[in-house]
Amino acid sequence: MFQGLSEKLQETFKKLRGKGKLNEADVTAAMREVRMALLEADVNFKVVKDFVAKVKERAVGAEVLESLSPAQQVVKIVHEELIALMGGAESKIQISPKPPTIIMLVGLQGAGKTTHAAKLASLLKKQGKHPLMVACDIYRPAAVKQLEVLGEQIKVPVFAQAGRAAAEIARAGAESALRQGADVLIIDTAGRLHINEELMGELQEIKAQVQPQEILLVVDAMTGQDAVNVAETFHARLGLDGVILTKLDGDTRGGAALSVRAVTGCPIKFAGVGEKIEALEAFYPDRMASRILGMGDVLTLIEKAQQAFDEKKAAEMQQKLRKQEFSLEDFLEQMQQLKKMGPLASIMEMIPGIGKQLKDVTIDEKDMAHVEAIIRSMTPDERRKPSIIKDSRKRRIAKGSGTSIQEVGRLLKQFEQMQKMMKQFAGGLPGGLGKGKKG
Ligand code: GDP
Repeated sequence: MFQGLSEKLQETFKKLRGKGKLNEADVTAAMREVRMALLEADVNFKVVKDFVAKVKERAVGAEVLESLSPAQQVVKIVHEELIALMGGAESKIQISPKPPTIIMLVGLQGAGKTTHAAKLASLLKKQGKHPLMVACDIYRPAAVKQLEVLGEQIKVPVFAQAGRAAAEIARAGAESALRQGADVLIIDTAGRLHINEELMGELQEIKAQVQPQEILLVVDAMTGQDAVNVAETFHARLGLDGVILTKLDGDTRGGAALSVRAVTGCPIKFAGVGEKIEALEAFYPDRMASRILGMGDVLTLIEKAQQAFDEKKAAEMQQKLRKQEFSLEDFLEQMQQLKKMGPLASIMEMIPGIGKQLKDVTIDEKDMAHVEAIIRSMTPDERRKPSIIKDSRKRRIAKGSGTSIQEVGRLLKQFEQMQKMMKQFAGGLPGGLGKGKKG
């Protein structure tokens, strides 16, 4: 996410830091680089101009140039202005006091509407809501099917009707929600390849029929300034309440994320960060700004961990670690939990300072798959007591997992070392951090 922009900005600030004391010319030079970086990231031209002017005005102020760490002050100002650019605080969806809350998703074909109807439904369900999804994409029969399949997967009902106009289906869906006691209605509408009158007319009809609390535009972040133009048009015609920016996982530039709010005034409410149902994040401008500047995003990381990890299990694991009973079986389970958090590379990106260092390191998910296959080929006894694994067992495990005896041996050795390390940690654990005996 935003890799290109992130690297360029960090490079610029590194140069500033190397200078110690700064003068106005240094700031001007740095701002020229920031300007270039933002333009290359496909940020709207006018947005860039205003942004750089604001940062510069603040950065050449006496309190920055004469401070003890002027470069850090400049980074702080850029951070704050990036947050402001993306809308300041998080924008939540409005839940109507009188159910159902009606959320209408609009956007061009392929932007991710259907996928995000399901992602949103799943997220709201986890928050204790009872969503109902309505299939109003009547032109693509496959779209209705797609929504039904997703609905089944996340156990959220789907309302569909053949042979009626979209606005009528939406209205019938809202009535059905009342009858079923669903408190959130998510309407998936039809898209087109380009904006056209027919599409806008149909969406306006749906809006008039059901009067949604939230009209959210689903746009593909990877289309950069096109996404911003699409947002402008939809906002003018329909009056948007917010934007769901999809495919941010594949967006190395960041132009749409940084311009949509400033150009249209519409807040980005959610970001899609992958194809899986769980790959949806609330959009926090401050966390995004931190990621862009390579400061990591610890809060999102913690939230992801909380979602993926079962607290009871985590407590059990801790017990096992203390009692030194941590087995290969537990190791396998930890790997599964980690995998639920998403691709390893994107997790690493959120850890402050690590993203940059890992730039040239490829995390080999294949290696992890091998480790998993090896452990799965072991018997429960072997997993609990790896010391019983001698040559003939190694051969059997290698064969079963499609790996080599060397790989099996390597894993066992690594696990042994890990256990040794844990023993050392365990010695210091009970009394709290840093206390207790060493070694
Ligand atoms: P619709 O035509 O707007 O309903 O678009 P779909 O929901 O069918 O999505 C189009 C394609 O984009 C599908 O292949 C999705 O899996 C993919 N997609 C949707 N959202 C994301 C996302 O956040 N990240 C990635 N990588 N792919 C996505």
